[in-house]
Amino acid sequence: MVRLTFYGGINEIGGNKILLEDGDRRLLLDFGFPYKRHKLFYEEYLKPRGGAGLLDPLVMGLLPPLEGLYRDDIMSPELWQQFQDNPLYRELGRVDGVLLSHAHLDHSGYISFLRDDIPVYTTAVTAFITKAMQDSSRADFDQQVCYFSPKAQEYPTDWKQKAFLSKNNTKQQRQFCIADRNPEALNSDAVQFWSWGLWEKTKRQKTGLFSCPLDTHSRCAFNLRCFPVDHSIPGACAWGIETSSGWVIYSGDLRLHGKRGELTRRFIGETAELRPKALILEGTGVERTSNVTEQEVYQNGLKVIAVSNELVIADFSPRDVDRLLTFLQIAKDTDRKLAILPKDAYLLKTVRLLETGIPDIAQEDSLVIYQETTASKSPALWMRNIYQEYDSKIVLASDVKSAQEQFILCFSFFDLNELPSICPKPGSLYVYSSSEPHNEEQEIDFRRLHEWLKRFKFRGFGLPVESNGEWQIPDVERGLHASGHACGTDLLQIAQQIKPEVLIPVHSEHPDFYINHLNSSGIKVILPTLGGTIEV
Ligand SMILES: [Zn+2]
Repeated sequence: MVRLTFYGGINEIGGNKILLEDGDRRLLLDFGFPYKRHKLFYEEYLKPRGGAGLLDPLVMGLLPPLEGLYRDDIMSPELWQQFQDNPLYRELGRVDGVLLSHAHLDHSGYISFLRDDIPVYTTAVTAFITKAMQDSSRADFDQQVCYFSPKAQEYPTDWKQKAFLSKNNTKQQRQFCIADRNPEALNSDAVQFWSWGLWEKTKRQKTGLFSCPLDTHSRCAFNLRCFPVDHSIPGACAWGIETSSGWVIYSGDLRLHGKRGELTRRFIGETAELRPKALILEGTGVERTSNVTEQEVYQNGLKVIAVSNELVIADFSPRDVDRLLTFLQIAKDTDRKLAILPKDAYLLKTVRLLETGIPDIAQEDSLVIYQETTASKSPALWMRNIYQEYDSKIVLASDVKSAQEQFILCFSFFDLNELPSICPKPGSLYVYSSSEPHNEEQEIDFRRLHEWLKRFKFRGFGLPVESNGEWQIPDVERGLHASGHACGTDLLQIAQQIKPEVLIPVHSEHPDFYINHLNSSGIKVILPTLGGTIEV
């Protein structure tokens, strides 16, 4: 009997944390950051206390109380006494690994808390993106997926000593096991990138090099299959796990309508042949009945940008490399330059280490890098390297200001504070190519975004507007965002073609969709509950 216990991703989009147990072999399927629950309690200025380690996320129900699962450098020895009466409390034996489906934090974020001897199984691209994301951000203690700074075990009582310890820059990298290629066949640039930055010295003490070379997935206690799938970030995959009850398939996040939809189709064909016992399937987009394709995003974006004679801002997630390439093509077709931020350049350069089809920034005439006006005089090392490597590609606010009609700026809401330096001319265009707000905080940000656009007399296109308390993109301005998730009809098709004995929906606000639509299909749908176990 295989036991599947669900600690996240239940009636919510994201935060997936699934424990698979087969005898004394155990795996986690993703270990994501639970945005929705986190937002119930926390905001920008009220965060879990880094110094309190595991206590805050455990008490607030953000992490399941599973003794033996977490790093011991971030807990006090008495910690678990407090949770013995919690109905979800358990002492967990050895966990053989976490299967990471992709690098979105709602699937990967809380890997930060796991014991460092639990290996992370994933694709090479996902491993590299987790590192690039962490290198280029000030990742909070609860989002340090690729490497972390171990806390001193014994806190010194002398305050001076404590100050010294906090300067210690030791970083410990997790063991990543690559399932889709041979780590020994990676080129030297890729190998170098993996350990880059993990040897920082402090003035008083040279700390150890704690890089951990990539390994293969063949040593896992389970026979695993990794299936690349199409999603809104490169490197996404689904997993097949051969258990004593048969194959268990975990979809991660996926779609059929993206540029790499073929990957998802191959996944469906190959898993159907395994005649799986169970399919754990995402259901983000169950209520949608149709999809916008990336090709439509290109056509619709081109149509509106081609007739603009002023500055264009394109608002989309640059981690969605397909979307970035769509806007790069639009920039070429309209004789503009696409200006991306240094962190986006770093990500693009990183993915190119593994996927040669990604453009080389140095060779791509239509691609430039925007240097923030108020950037620090001593930028972080990764950023300094980007500025140095692409020296001739750097544009400043003054460059954009004097030739506004020549640029498409890849800005999001959070970059708008650059506008006072750019002074966009009235009638500049703001193209919104992302999803509608799905929580209160995002709605507040959208109100602010509209105020910014009013202040600088922008013309918005594809922007959600509020009417009767609902935020919606006007019908005539739709078609500028291709979702990372399959629509309801596609999801049903995926389920029916794979035809598992049991289907378990996760990552959805409407999991009963599957019950309503699959009741006569011969597939048994079981809805998981938070902390509940399903035996297959
Ligand atoms: Zn995702």
